[in-house]
Amino acid sequence: MRLLLVEDETRMAAALTRGLVAEGFVVEHVADGEAGLEAARFGGYDAVVLDVMLPRMSGYTVVRTLRAEQNWVPVLMLSAKDGEYDEADGLDYGADDYLTKPFSFVVLLARLRALLRRESGPRPVLLEGAGIVLDPASHRVHADGVEVSLSPREFLVLEHLLRAGPAVVAKEDLLESVWGPGDDANVVEVYVGYLRRKLGRARIETVRGVGYRLAT
Ligand code: CA
Repeated sequence: MRLLLVEDETRMAAALTRGLVAEGFVVEHVADGEAGLEAARFGGYDAVVLDVMLPRMSGYTVVRTLRAEQNWVPVLMLSAKDGEYDEADGLDYGADDYLTKPFSFVVLLARLRALLRRESGPRPVLLEGAGIVLDPASHRVHADGVEVSLSPREFLVLEHLLRAGPAVVAKEDLLESVWGPGDDANVVEVYVGYLRRKLGRARIETVRGVGYRLAT
């Protein structure tokens, strides 16, 4: 397994490289965002471990650029920031998973292995349903042809519903995917409410006691 590590903190990069090599990975390390983008474009890596705060180009820009170019290499983002919005931002821009520093190496390894087990085939360029078109790459949403502006978390909730197609998405699944385990399930209802206000009530149906699905 070949990994690209994009990290500007020398000691962190050295420690991660040492640990990952000991686990049998081949690791290439670059220390700024521009070099990271170039390497990820042409390097043929199995996964990228990408810091957010980088010289020359942020990790957000790197992953957003890769996705806009239809490059679906699995990306695990690292960040020292732990603000509520950072994680959603990273995932919105196309990262597959996100770890907040400081993290334990064991956790990094587990998340990385989970990422590598996942299918990393091409993703649909556009997600469509209930008159809504969502473009994960450009991060835009249209309802009946009219562009709608969504917050990062609203976008993620809608993306999950669209990916499920006509299937019901359990409230707990939305909670865990968008907010993380342990959060209050009421937040899901609140955000579905926001989405209904912006997109039209009838587009998202409540399946009592289970969750939500897109109207067909
Ligand atoms: Ca950094």
